[in-house]
Amino acid sequence: MFDTGLAPEGITAALTAAGRSPDEVTLVVLTHMHGDHTGGLSDGTTPTFAKARYATGQIEFDHWAGAGNEGFEAKVRPLADKMTMLADGAEAAPGLSAMLVPGHTPGHMAYRIESGGQSLILAADTANHYIWSLGHPDWEVRFDMDKAQAAASRRKLLDMLAADGTPFVGYHMPFPGLGFVETAGEGFRFVPASYQFDL
Ligand SMILES: [Zn+2]
Repeated sequence: MFDTGLAPEGITAALTAAGRSPDEVTLVVLTHMHGDHTGGLSDGTTPTFAKARYATGQIEFDHWAGAGNEGFEAKVRPLADKMTMLADGAEAAPGLSAMLVPGHTPGHMAYRIESGGQSLILAADTANHYIWSLGHPDWEVRFDMDKAQAAASRRKLLDMLAADGTPFVGYHMPFPGLGFVETAGEGFRFVPASYQFDL
């Protein structure tokens, strides 16, 4: 599972709705450590995913470990001894490789998921709005910690997605959340992967 949402009750309800239980989760990958990605790790005492190990970026962990951040101290640090720390390009699991896309946070990671000769990119928070972030990737985004670096990373990843035609999952993208990137003008546009492709 990638990221955990704001709180245990939210992610648990989402899993239940999908016919799954928290005990089935064996690996939790944290793309970065904003509270809406780490808050569901535990209630501050009991881990939500009793049988899971964790993987996250070394740069990201090190940044928040030194930041005096309450959410990190409550939810992330207590699980540190179960975490695999990844460098750019490392695998969280077979076919699941980390891509450092810094700027949104210092160690923000996207992931390439490969299976049966096909690839999917999980872009995490590289692009937060399907029109503005794709059409104008150089525009500053309030939630990006290093705005210039985030803009450079955003353009680089979108360039790659457009050139390769690889589908991507982007947080904050509209339904169905899965799509493609095409070049458009100075930037790009979001092409949702419609159910119509299956008909
Ligand atoms: Zn974020």
